[in-house]
Order: sequence, then C-alpha cells, then structure tokens
Amino acid sequence: MPLTNTPPTAELQALDAAHHMHPFTANGALGAKGARIITRAQGVRLTDSDGAELIDGMAGLWCVNIGYGRAELAEAAARQMRELPYYNTFFQTSHVPALTLAAKLAELAPGDLNHVFFAGSGSEANDTNIRMVRQYWALKGQPARRTIIARRNGYHGSTMGGGSLGGMAAMHAQGGLPIPGIVHIDQPYWWGEGGDMSPDAFGLARARQLEEKILELGPENVAAFIAEPVQGAGGVIIPPDSYWPEVQRIVDQYGILLIADEVITGFGRLGHWFGSQSYGIRPHIMTIAKGLSSGYQPIGGSIVCDEVAQTIAQDEFNHGYTYSGHPVAAAVALENLRILQEEEIVERVRDVAAPYLAQAWGSLSDHPLVGETVSRGLMASLALTPDKARRARFAAEAGHAGYICREYCFANNLVMRHVGDRMIIAPPLVIATDDIDELIRRARRALDQTL
Ligand code: PLP
Repeated sequence: MPLTNTPPTAELQALDAAHHMHPFTANGALGAKGARIITRAQGVRLTDSDGAELIDGMAGLWCVNIGYGRAELAEAAARQMRELPYYNTFFQTSHVPALTLAAKLAELAPGDLNHVFFAGSGSEANDTNIRMVRQYWALKGQPARRTIIARRNGYHGSTMGGGSLGGMAAMHAQGGLPIPGIVHIDQPYWWGEGGDMSPDAFGLARARQLEEKILELGPENVAAFIAEPVQGAGGVIIPPDSYWPEVQRIVDQYGILLIADEVITGFGRLGHWFGSQSYGIRPHIMTIAKGLSSGYQPIGGSIVCDEVAQTIAQDEFNHGYTYSGHPVAAAVALENLRILQEEEIVERVRDVAAPYLAQAWGSLSDHPLVGETVSRGLMASLALTPDKARRARFAAEAGHAGYICREYCFANNLVMRHVGDRMIIAPPLVIATDDIDELIRRARRALDQTL
C-alpha cells in the first residue's frame, strides 16, 4: 500500500525531475520516465510510492547487510542524539562511541590491524589512505615512494582521490581524473579477458603485471597497491584462486603497502568478517564503509596496522573530516556490529546462504543468454553473451543487453544491477532461502524477456 500521506507518484516524480540531480545518472533521460520512488523497506523488500513490493537484490548499494527495518539501530541513533549529537575527535578530544567503535573494529579485524581513522564514506576513507601511505613513507625517510598502483575497472569511490584510484574509464573521461601519482594495471577478469589461458595461468599473469609495474616505476617510487578482494562495481569480478597469493608474494618482496578496499567485502559479504580473511591476504590498511553501519548512517574509515599507525603518530597528520567518527553514526555502527555478531549472521552466510545462492544462481547458467555464473559469499554475477561456446561479448552498441535485462528485472520487481553486460547481485546478508528462490525466478523471467 502507498503511504497515505505521500503525494501521488507523478507529483513526486515531477519534483524529483525538476530539482534533484541523481548520481551516476543521465538526469535528462530520467525526466521522461521518472525515477521509481522508494518509500519504505523491511527485511529484503522495498516498497515504492505505488505500493509495489520489490526484492532488493543489491542491499541498497551493497550496504544493508542486516536488512531493513531494524528498530534497534533507530533507537541507538535516537539515544545518542539525545546524549551527545555531535562532537569532534580533533584537537585532543574524543568521545565514547568513536573510541568504543575503534576498539571493536580492532578486535574484529585480523592480524595487527588495531587502529582506526574514521571518515564519512568509503571515498573519503580512500582519500585518507592516499595521504596516509605517502605520509608514512615520508616519515620513513623515503619520500619518493608516492605512486599508488590500482586496477582498471576497480572502484574506490567518487571523490578526486577515490575516483583516481578507481579505474573506471567513464569516470576518468570527466572532470580531470586521475590525479597524478596513481597508475593502473589490468583486472583479473578471466571470462572476459582470459582468452585461451586457464583461469589459474591468467590469474598469475594478471598478478605479475603488478611486479612488472613496480619494476617499471622502480620499487623505491612505489607507495602502495590498492584493490578490492572481489571487484564489486566493476561487475563482481571474482579473481582466479592463483591471483591473491601471487599479489601477496609481490607486495612482500618489494615492501609495498597493501590496501584492501573492503567497502563491499567487509562485514560478512564473503562469509568472513573481511574479504581479506577469505583470501588469506594480509593488508596494511583496510578501507571500510557500507556494511559497517549496514547503511543506516553514513560512516567509513581505514583500519590501519601497528607499523603504519605508529609511524603516522610520530608527527601531526594534517588530515580529517568534521564527521570523522560522528557519534550518532558510530553508535549505530556499534549496534549493527552487535547484531551481526550476536545473530551469527556472518557464519550463516558462510554455512547456509552462500552455498544456497551458489547453487541457485548457478542454475541460471543453462539460460541461452548466460555465459558464466559466478558467486562468492553473497556476491554474484553472470555474463550475458550472444554465443556462450565462444565466450563472446556483445558489441558495445548492442551492449545495452545488460541495461535491457536490468529494466526487465525492475519491471518484475527485482533490483538487480548491470555493469555493461554483467548482471550482478549482492542481497542483504539475512536473505532467506525462499527469498533467494523468488529472486532467481524473477531473474529468469527477466532473462527470458531480454532474449
Ligand atoms: N570502495 C568500494 C570498493 C566501493 O564499492 C565503494 C562504493 O561503492 C567505495 C569505495 C566508495 O564508497 P562511498 O560511496 O561510501 O564513498
């Protein structure tokens, strides 16, 4: 049912089109059809302004890990707003939510990742990382180590720093990205780019591009390598098993800092608290956001190892955000972590939901339009193809197959995203198995309509 006090959809859409500039959208094109206006949500389901109910296959933007409608988080926010709605953590002050959350994250994070620098988002946290790793090397007496290596088609945010670390060609085409001192190597996308190589040989070859780039630049000039354990916005690109161990060998050998961008893979998405644990890698810094608060409040940060944090502590780090460690966001994040932990949501992903999704999602591979289906934890993708035997990709002009499929999903009340011709999902971690079945039914219907 539509909310009784909500104006009619057409009226809302007219206001939206007249005044609201949407991110990552051709706003001009949106005007004609109008945005779908989401008014409420519960569990894994969204309700729009016409009263239609959608399955949210994307957990918002990969963030609503505990699902919608958890009143405990609203209560935590209200309590904190009454007690201390805002204070900063600059200039020799701290407050209970920020320090408690930092300590909790140090407990959850692997190894000696014991220190947290807070930000308002994943993009801001990655901007922090750029400055922190350069400052680290300057304090170590190696100021030439400034270049950061990242990956084409990686996504690390939308600020000048985050967008530069990211390797999104469409973003780089606008507004002066990337900033200097950031270079990109290729992604480990076997299905799309692996040709005749086996996945493992291809994974090794792509990892070794990191070594080649380090040698080309001179190791004495390289500060860090940043990557998502599984590329999310790039199309849920799951690397071959050979990839991460080789990357770890290379960063160890050349003494390069490793930044794992865990904005999507953190907080249970891959069936461990952090994606780095799923792949057995040992980052010096992890970027976090999204699932940290399940999206109920905007908050992000960098979890930093002892060595880097202790070095940074030697001098004033001239960097920070008004909302670093915002008390209301931190209180909500703490409540979210309590729920994730007490309800054993991460363990359920690993033991129940991920194997179930892998099997259900894999069942779509018999569809004539589907080239491969892959999943890890509760992230999954499939490639649309005109010819699955040849692993053919749609030509760019026809590449709107993904867009068309996404539109049919939407018409079938399923939120599934497309990245080019890859269809992707990352539902709330609490999704029940019968909701997974329903998601697959709707996805198959949309694929049939796309044919
Ligand atoms: N890093 C990764 C891996 C992401 O997926 C995102 C957002 O999707 C970001 C960073 C940027 O986070 P935010 O949108 O909170 O700035």
